Amino acid sequence: MTSIAERPGVTTYQQFIDGQWVDALSGATFTRTSPYDGSVVGVYPNSGIEDADRAIRAARRAFDETSWPTSPAADRARILRRAADLLAERADAFATCIAAEVGKPKTMALGEVMATVDVFQLFAAKALNLKGESFTQQIPDAIGIVAHEPVGVVGIITPWNFPLLLISWKIGPAIAAGCTMVAKPSHYTPGSTLMLAGLLAEAGLPDGVFNVVTSETDNGALVGQHIAASELVDKVAFTGSTASGKAVMRAAANNVKKVSLELGGKSPNIVFPDAALDAAVAGAFFGIYLNSGQVCQAGSRLLVAKPIKDEFVAKLTALSQTLKLGDPFDPATTMGPVINENQLAKIENYLQRGKQEAKLLTGGSRATDPGLEKGLFVKPTIFDEVPAQASIAREEIFGPVLSVLSFENIDDVIRTANDTMYGLAAAVWTKDINVALKVAKGLRAGTVWVNAYHTTGLYNMPYGGYKQSGLGRELGDLGLEEYMETKSIQIKLQ
Ligand code: NAD
Repeated sequence: MTSIAERPGVTTYQQFIDGQWVDALSGATFTRTSPYDGSVVGVYPNSGIEDADRAIRAARRAFDETSWPTSPAADRARILRRAADLLAERADAFATCIAAEVGKPKTMALGEVMATVDVFQLFAAKALNLKGESFTQQIPDAIGIVAHEPVGVVGIITPWNFPLLLISWKIGPAIAAGCTMVAKPSHYTPGSTLMLAGLLAEAGLPDGVFNVVTSETDNGALVGQHIAASELVDKVAFTGSTASGKAVMRAAANNVKKVSLELGGKSPNIVFPDAALDAAVAGAFFGIYLNSGQVCQAGSRLLVAKPIKDEFVAKLTALSQTLKLGDPFDPATTMGPVINENQLAKIENYLQRGKQEAKLLTGGSRATDPGLEKGLFVKPTIFDEVPAQASIAREEIFGPVLSVLSFENIDDVIRTANDTMYGLAAAVWTKDINVALKVAKGLRAGTVWVNAYHTTGLYNMPYGGYKQSGLGRELGDLGLEEYMETKSIQIKLQ
């Protein structure tokens, strides 16, 4: 484990286009400062549309003019396995970059890196298992073949909260399928994507298959829009806020490209009176505070049955106060800062609203204790007695802020849980299998946990959102299908 004394310095990056490390054509750069202490952690090329075009053309050439899309699946699987091995070997360096840019504790960044290793391994196995269908018994004189082919050039636009893991959900299936890619990571966290570009090249990925352009705030949206609208791009895979996702979808209409969107959430975490109390309290704690609450599937709406609500929130409040805010490179730190000034201001605004809408139990402000003054820290916060219509019960805050509501019965809680524009994830805690399944069936959400929150490792299961939480699925077989076109070949026998 890196100690505080071994905090990294400033890294200067180039972007990766057509197998080459290059600066932005304009020569412009931008910096990322640590949300922990404001120091500069990285310098990156500040690309514009002309750089994005260069990357898109490289990906187009690699798809149209090389043998990559029709390469043996075993070769693509080998690259993914080799990438997984290299990533495991260099986990510490990747985790250092993620911890510096995101501000999350390095211990947790290491978990993100190792989860990414698993995702690459999974898609290596899936590449070997690619298959189609045949129809031989439908009519006497014909045979049908359903073939799956790579979708083409994929535009990849990613957020900052899990910068390595979330891009692997796109790169893994894209390589397994034989696609080529242009990635635009968040301007807050480009480092791990750039490191990954070098690692994939070392693992044997041919030039032009994976390209990365980096660009700062306004350019980021501009370049993202350009990739989403480009006629040379066949699919766009986006993870980010619902508002940006809608803009991506509108731009993608330009050439009717395939779109997959992983967007925001306001996920309900439901606790029935018979639940194993301490496990449910620990689940609620992990559900809201992981990554300082900056998790799309965070359990930010806690719905607790009336008879146990007071005892439950008392235990949860006590546990919340044990979180240790601090330096991401101190192994004792359990919660880092939030990502940037805008996010801090947005959260502080919700804290003010929450104080008017509900009852504050703990937290409720920025944390400025000694050692945290230079950082963007928010105290772990719990609001109780939150009305279902309150803004803090309905809107995605994306910070360590929990809204607690209570419920009377199963129908009541399903209705409240579903009363939102989002539908990404949910959890239910009970020992009664009938209650668990009735709630799981009643919830309009892409993932439902029973007696758990934020489980990891089930990457063979599809992930995605109902309603305005997204479109399409990542991971699992469905997550691979998103990167394939389907062709029906109908053969008349002569
Ligand atoms: P964001 O939407 O601001 O940015 C995401 C990415 O999109 C960045 O790379 C950004 O530069 C780019 N972008 C911004 N505006 C764009 C536009 N108009 N056109 C094209 N690209 C554009 O999101 P963020 O702040 O980086 O991430 C937080 C959000 O992401 C939260 O809402 C969270 O719920 C969501 N998220 C969802 C999932 C999921 O799997 N469903 C996972 C992580 C984060």
